[in-house]
Amino acid sequence: MTIILLTSGAVLLLTCSAFFVYELLTFRQTTVRQLTTLAEIIATNSTGALAFQNQSDAQEILAALKAERHIVAACLYDNEGKLFAKYPPDLPASAFPAKRENDGYRFDYSYLASFQPVVQGGNYRLGTLYLKSDMQAVYARFRLYGIIIVVVIALSFLLTYILSRTLQQQISEPILALADTAKAISAGRDYSVRATKLGEDELGLLTDAFNQMLMQIHDQDQALRESADRVRAVLNSTMSAVIVMDSEGKITEWNARAEKMFGLTRLEALGREMAETIVPPRHREAHRRGITRFLATGEGPVLNRLIELSALRRDGSEFPVELSISPLKTGDVVTFCGFITDITERKKAATALQAKQEAETANKAKTEFLSRMSHELRTPLNAILGFGQLLERQNPTDIQRARLGHIMAAGRHLLKLINEVLDISRIETGNLQLSPEPVCVAEALQETLSLIRPLAAERSIELSMPSESDARCFVLADLQRLKQVLLNLVSNAVKYSPIHGRVTISCSALSKDTLRIAVSDMGAGIPGDKLARLFTPFDRLGAEYSSVEGTGLGLALCKRLMHAMGGSIGADSTLGRGSTFWIDLPHAESPFGRSSRLEATSPEKEHISFAGKRKILYIEDNLSNLTLVEQILSEEPAIELVSAMQGQLGLDLARKHSPDLILLDLHLPDLPGQEVLARLGRDEATRHIPVVVISADATARQIDQLMAAGAHAYLTKPLDVTEVLQVVEEATFKNGAKQDAAV
Ligand code: ADP
Repeated sequence: MTIILLTSGAVLLLTCSAFFVYELLTFRQTTVRQLTTLAEIIATNSTGALAFQNQSDAQEILAALKAERHIVAACLYDNEGKLFAKYPPDLPASAFPAKRENDGYRFDYSYLASFQPVVQGGNYRLGTLYLKSDMQAVYARFRLYGIIIVVVIALSFLLTYILSRTLQQQISEPILALADTAKAISAGRDYSVRATKLGEDELGLLTDAFNQMLMQIHDQDQALRESADRVRAVLNSTMSAVIVMDSEGKITEWNARAEKMFGLTRLEALGREMAETIVPPRHREAHRRGITRFLATGEGPVLNRLIELSALRRDGSEFPVELSISPLKTGDVVTFCGFITDITERKKAATALQAKQEAETANKAKTEFLSRMSHELRTPLNAILGFGQLLERQNPTDIQRARLGHIMAAGRHLLKLINEVLDISRIETGNLQLSPEPVCVAEALQETLSLIRPLAAERSIELSMPSESDARCFVLADLQRLKQVLLNLVSNAVKYSPIHGRVTISCSALSKDTLRIAVSDMGAGIPGDKLARLFTPFDRLGAEYSSVEGTGLGLALCKRLMHAMGGSIGADSTLGRGSTFWIDLPHAESPFGRSSRLEATSPEKEHISFAGKRKILYIEDNLSNLTLVEQILSEEPAIELVSAMQGQLGLDLARKHSPDLILLDLHLPDLPGQEVLARLGRDEATRHIPVVVISADATARQIDQLMAAGAHAYLTKPLDVTEVLQVVEEATFKNGAKQDAAV
């Protein structure tokens, strides 16, 4: 509006000024012309009066000027320039110029003065007419003009104002409305607002375009919001705290997990410096240097890697975290995204695990020590029991027999103890070798009872077996270990029963898949409070004060063996009425041909007879073992024993003497027994000689290994004299027979 008003005002002013100047110039010229014309007329009329020096005529002629109101003074000068007549007559002479001046006109302040020559006959000058015209009229007119111009400008201003206002309503209003809408949208960021269309003209089109643009922005904004919401939902659902920071280290994103982990809400965290917020004071400088270094070189030692460090909670406490920082580059802008996992629990678990592993290692070391000790103890026992057996075979006197009985009983007790400790330690170190197979219960029971019968007979205890039909079923177990368990339970039942008692063994299906074998006795029973301690190693429940011999390890071992075989063991007892020990094992399908096993178990051979001369080489470094075997075999005059205390010597002797049999210990000072066996097998000269391994190591794996490596038989220490003689006879006989056949 101001522009319109100023423009039109300036144009009007210019127009009026031009008009004014023109009028002024025109008017002056007109006035000069009128005055000149009047002066000529009066001069012409005054010719006579001057010619005749008739002053009154001249006065009269001048008086005619009365009709011309603007003529304020007039006078005639004679040819000498003296004042001749004047108008108005009462005006003093001093009011006129003192003498005539040059012809022509001149403006004098607000008057126009004219000097007109009065000429007669064309060139004779009679005098000069002076006329003085008042310019007031001119100025009055111009004043009027001025007023008119002001009024016109004012009116045109008014008109312009009214017009522009009317136009503004049509043009500015829609534009202002658009501007207002844009302002409201940018203030409230609400893109659903629409501008109102005020007409169908170009501004209407502009409004439509504006609204369409708004719609697109609204859609994009909506999509952006949804995408941001999705991203935030994903960030919030992660188990890690996700923190994004800008290149100045200021936090720009902070997920729900971070809120929980650090105790700061998102709004509190946004905009804060990450170093100040979660990095402990001692690491802050390094953190800042890392960012600066990355921005300068694009490299950082901690970027894109998993690192463990301490983080700071709002309350000032520190906790261990696992952190990975990835730099994200969008255009020239770099942001850093940090994924943080609280590893307090993991650390605790790792510490606990380490402690557990250390405890397990210590326990294993202890068990291994025990195992080694037990193993080492068997070697001297071998001598004790071996020589004891030899003495028993030499018809001792009654007193000697009784003393020998004590030595042998103590030795066997010690052997049992050692064997049980060894078994327990093997189970605990995971070294127990089991061969689960379908085992016939009747067969296992029969073999067990044949061993226990002498003890039962000693105490006049009746052993009652299950019926043939009950026991002829199969369980999945290791035959040797099952027999060991049964032997333990039945021998306990016999040991802890009164003389003339009865021990009943039963066999029943507990379920479709499980079979129960129970051993019941008529002993004193076990008090309820002691039942729970039954399977604890070395706990004899007070039996250690009785005359019943025992180690306190049997049931503990049974329990471990049963668990190792996938079965279970338990006991019920009634004080004064007796106890029942039971074992449960999984049923197994009956394999064919197993029943022959019973018959296969040959009765012990008590008398061994050697036919012909046989040479035997014994490779052994332990002197007492050597002496024992020497003495066992010295009973047989047909046997010649050659001994070697080192592996290499043994190999040389074998080649030199070509013995009928080699007895080989595994622990030799120069070579392992396994190596000696292998070399014997590789040598043409010794390959045919049977090798019987004698070792304190009775593990099935060891036995299998050596048998596979070519051993003829495997004897475990402490040696059973009868067994030794039997194996020697069998091996040398076979070999001799082979040689005879070859000859
Ligand atoms: P031990 O070598 O002492 O017999 P076991 O481990 O076999 O060791 O048994 C542990 C203890 O359980 C025995 O010392 C004994 O007190 C008790 N016990 C075992 N079997 C019976 C039983 N049939 N009757 C009464 N007590 C028994």
